[in-house]
Amino acid sequence: MATTPTPPSVYEKSNSFVEIRRTHPERENVRGRIEALAQRLDARGSLSDRDEIVREACTELLKDADSRFALRDFVVEEIRKLDDAELERYLHYRFRYEVFPPEFRVDGYPPLLQIEPTSICNYRCIFCYQTDTAFTTPKHGHMGLMPMDLFKKVVDEAEGKVEAITLASRGEPTLHKQFAEMLDYLGGKFLAVKINTNASKLTDELCHAILRSGVQTLVFSADAATEPLYSQLRVRGDLETVLTNVKRFHDIRERDYPDARTITRVSGVKVSEEQDLDQMDSVWHDLVDQVAFVKYNPWENTYLMPENEIETPCSEYWRRTFVLWDGAVNPCDTDYMATLAAGNANEASVSELWRGTRYEGLRKLHQARQRRGVSPCNRCTVV
Ligand code: SF4
Repeated sequence: MATTPTPPSVYEKSNSFVEIRRTHPERENVRGRIEALAQRLDARGSLSDRDEIVREACTELLKDADSRFALRDFVVEEIRKLDDAELERYLHYRFRYEVFPPEFRVDGYPPLLQIEPTSICNYRCIFCYQTDTAFTTPKHGHMGLMPMDLFKKVVDEAEGKVEAITLASRGEPTLHKQFAEMLDYLGGKFLAVKINTNASKLTDELCHAILRSGVQTLVFSADAATEPLYSQLRVRGDLETVLTNVKRFHDIRERDYPDARTITRVSGVKVSEEQDLDQMDSVWHDLVDQVAFVKYNPWENTYLMPENEIETPCSEYWRRTFVLWDGAVNPCDTDYMATLAAGNANEASVSELWRGTRYEGLRKLHQARQRRGVSPCNRCTVV
C-alpha cells in the first residue's frame, strides 16, 4: 500500500518537477528566432514597457553564461508551436513568470491567472485537500461552480493583459457542465492556456472543445500506470477509464486536428517509492507528449501542519493569482480555504486586487522575511 511521504523542508515552486520526459524528443534550436526578435525590437527605437521586458528576456536568453532566464525543454516545445509575433507575447509572459518572483517585481497583472471552474472533485487523492471534510462538506460553503457571467468577466479583463490562463485549481474542471462553453469563450484569446484534469470525464465533446480552443498544455493527472497503485493514490479513480479517455483524446487529435497546438502530459505527484517513471513512460509513451512526476507538496492538511521556521518569501505572490468559483481572488491553492483572499472578482477587477492593499501588505511581510506572522504561510513550505 502506498504511503504519504515525509514532507520536504521547502517546496520550490519554480522547480516542482522531479523529472519531465518528452516522449518523442526532437532537437530544436530557437536561438536564431530569439536573435531575430532582439533585432526587430532594436529596430523599433523607442520601446514600450512591454517591449523592454521582451528585450530583457532576449538579452538573458542570448547570454552564454550567468543568465537569469533559460528555456527548459518543455518550454522550447511550446515555443516551437508559436509564430514570430506570438513568440514576443510568449516571452513577455514567460520572463515575468520565471524572473519576476525571485526579483520581487510586480506589474499590473499576474504573469499567470488560474481560473477555477469548480471546487468539486470526484476523486479523493491521498495527497489532496479534497480529503479534508472541513473543505468538502457542502454546508461549509467551499463547494461550487463558477457562473458563466463571472467567468466571462474575468476572461474579458485578462484578454490582452495576461497570456497564461490555467483552468484548474481545487476541483476537477471537467465536472462543470459548461466547461466546453468556457473553452469556446477562451478560444484564440490567450497563448498559454493549460488544463489540469484527472481525465475521468473526458468525453468526445470535451476533447473537441479543448482542441478547437487551442489549449496549449493539457495535463492528465495520473500518478501510476498500474493497479492497484493508481487507485490507492487516486482514490475513487479507475485507471482503465483514464487510459481509455487519454487514448480518446490522442486519437481525436491525430485524426481531426493534425496541426493542433495542444501538448499533452501525464503528470503524477511523487509520493511513493513504488511509483516508477520508466513504467509510466512505457504505458503512456504512445498516447502523450510528455510524462512527468512533480514533487509532493503537503497541502492535504495545510492548516494542521506544524508552524515552521521558513523565512524565504513565497514566490506565489509574484507569479500567479487564483480566481475561485465564487470570485474569491487568492494567492495560492495551498491555502485551500482561501483565508488569504485579497477580495472578490465580482466586486473589483483582478488587477485592482493584484495591486491592492491586502496583496501588497502580504508581499511586504514576505519580502521582509516575516511570513511566520501570516497564517497559513507560517505552516506552509512553498517558497
Ligand atoms: S499558504 Fe502562503 S506561503 Fe503557502 S503557497 Fe500560499 S501564499 Fe505561499
